Amino acid sequence: MMDTLTHWIDGKPVASKSDRTGEVYNPATGEVQKRVPYATLGEVDAAIDSAAKASESWKHASLATRARILFAFRELVNKHKDDLARMLTLEHGKVFSDAQGEVQRGLEVIEFACGLQHLLKGEISENVSTDVDSYSLRQPVGVVAGITPFNFPAMVPMWMYPVAIACGNTFVLKPSERDPSVTNFCAELLAQAGLPEGVLNIVHGDKVAVDRILEHRSIGAVSFVGSTPIARYIFETGTKNGKRVQALGGAKNHMVVLPDADMDLAADAAVGAGYGSAGERCMAISVLVCVGNAAEKLLPKIRERIAVLKVGNGLEPESQMGPLITRQHLDKVTGYVNQGEKEGAKVLVDGRTLKVPGHEKGFFLGPCLLDDVTPDMTVYREEIFGPVLSVVRVETYEQAIRLIQEHPYGNGTAIFTNDGGAARKFQHEIQVGMVGINVPIPVPMSYYSFGGWKQSLFGDLHIYGPDGIKFYTRNKVVIGRWPDPRFRGVDLGFPQNR
Ligand code: NAD
Repeated sequence: MMDTLTHWIDGKPVASKSDRTGEVYNPATGEVQKRVPYATLGEVDAAIDSAAKASESWKHASLATRARILFAFRELVNKHKDDLARMLTLEHGKVFSDAQGEVQRGLEVIEFACGLQHLLKGEISENVSTDVDSYSLRQPVGVVAGITPFNFPAMVPMWMYPVAIACGNTFVLKPSERDPSVTNFCAELLAQAGLPEGVLNIVHGDKVAVDRILEHRSIGAVSFVGSTPIARYIFETGTKNGKRVQALGGAKNHMVVLPDADMDLAADAAVGAGYGSAGERCMAISVLVCVGNAAEKLLPKIRERIAVLKVGNGLEPESQMGPLITRQHLDKVTGYVNQGEKEGAKVLVDGRTLKVPGHEKGFFLGPCLLDDVTPDMTVYREEIFGPVLSVVRVETYEQAIRLIQEHPYGNGTAIFTNDGGAARKFQHEIQVGMVGINVPIPVPMSYYSFGGWKQSLFGDLHIYGPDGIKFYTRNKVVIGRWPDPRFRGVDLGFPQNR
C-alpha cells in the first residue's frame, strides 16, 4: 500500500476522506513515492475552524510566550535541517546542498520572527493636545492563509507562517501538492516547540481547497506565491471577498553584462543562477543581456563551465543539478527549447539529449544555452522555469535597460560591470523589485522584504521582513486623556489640538 499524506489539523495528523488524490514523485527516478490527498470542502473548513478557535486565545498570548515557541522551533529546524533537506531532494529533486541552502534561508526568516518583541512595538506621542497622549498598536489580523509553490516547499511557507504566528495570527497553509511532505514535518516540529493546537493547520489539495480559502469568511488575509496567472486570480478573488492579499508571481530575470565586467565572475554567476535548481527558481537568471562585445568574451567561458556540470540524482554528492519536478514540466520546458529553435534562436548547448545512467525514467534535462534570442520570441516573452538560458545581444546599455523596462515581469535583475557609475544608474532607474550588482540572485535578507514589481507581485506589500509585519497586523491608533475637570462641557465642534 502506498502512503497517503495526512492533513495537519488541530495540532495532529488527520487522515483525509477525500476520494481525490495526487501523486508525489521522486523526480530523479520518475517513481511515485506517495499520494497526497486533495482536501474536501469539509476538511478545509475543519482546518479554518480550528484556526479560528485557536485565534481566540493565541491573539492574547504574550509576546514572551510567542517568542519562546519560535526560538524553540528555530532550534528544532536547525537540528533537523539535513532531514528537511533530504525530504526536499526526494520530492523536489534539487541537489542536497541546494536544499540545505533553502532550509538555511527559511531558518533566517524564523530567526527574524524570533525578534517579534522589537518588531511589534507601536509608537507613542505624548501631549498631542494638552494632557492628551496618542499611541499606535499593531494587532493580529486573525486567521490568515498561505498558498505556496513547488519550487521552495520549505522556505516559501517559512516566509509566511513564522511571521504571521509571531504577529499573533493563526495560520492555514495549503502547500504545493507536488512536494508536500516537508510542511507536515515542520508542523510536527512546531508542535514539539510548544505551539498550541490549531495555530498552524495544513490542508493538502488543489484548486478546490484554494477556492474555499478565498471565499471563507473567517480568513482575513492570504499570502500567495506561485505563477503569475494564478497570482492574479488569487489577488482578484481574495480582494473581491474583502481579504488582504499579497500574491507573488512569476519572473523573467535579466542579467546585464557590460563589456568591462569581470567575465570569469559573470560566467560563474550566469551558470550558477541559470542552472541552479534546474532553473526552477523565481530568482533564476533566464536572460543574459550581453552589451557590445561582452558575448564574445562571456559565452566561451559559460560553455566551458556547462561542459563540466554534473547533472544527476540530487542525493549523490557529486550532482550539481537535479531533475525537473514532473514529466509534464520536463515536456513543457523541452517544448520551449524546440519552439526557440523554430523561431530562430541558435542552440549553443543542447540539454535535450542528456541521459543520466541508472535514472532513465527521471525527469532530467541538461543545461540549454540559446543564442541570438530576440524579444519577439516565445522563449524571451514567457517564463520557462527550467535550465534554459537565453542570450540577447544588444549594442548599448540603453537598449539593455529598455528590454528590462518593457518586460511584463519585474522580479529580480542583475548587472555585471566594474563601472560604479553604470551600476548606480542601473539600480536607480531599473523597474524591478530586487537588484543585484555583481550578485546574480539578489534575494533580500530576512530583515528586508522580498518582492517583485509589475506582474511579479499583486498587492502593496512585499513578503517577510518589515512588510511581512505590516501585512500580518492591523494598525490601531489610541488617543487618551485621563479625566480633567478643565475640559468638561459639551462641545459639538470637530476636535482640535490645543
Ligand atoms: P502554481 O501557480 O502552479 O501553483 C502555486 C500554488 O497555487 C500551488 O499551491 C497550487 O496548488 C495552487 N494552484 C495551482 N493552480 C491553481 C488554480 N487554478 N487555482 C487555484 N490554485 C491553484 O506555481 P508552481 O508551479 O507551484 O510554482 C512555480 C511558479 O511560482 C513559477 O511561476 C515561479 O516563478 C513562481 N514563484 C514565484 C516566487 C516569487 O517570490 N515571486 C517564488 C517562488 C516561485
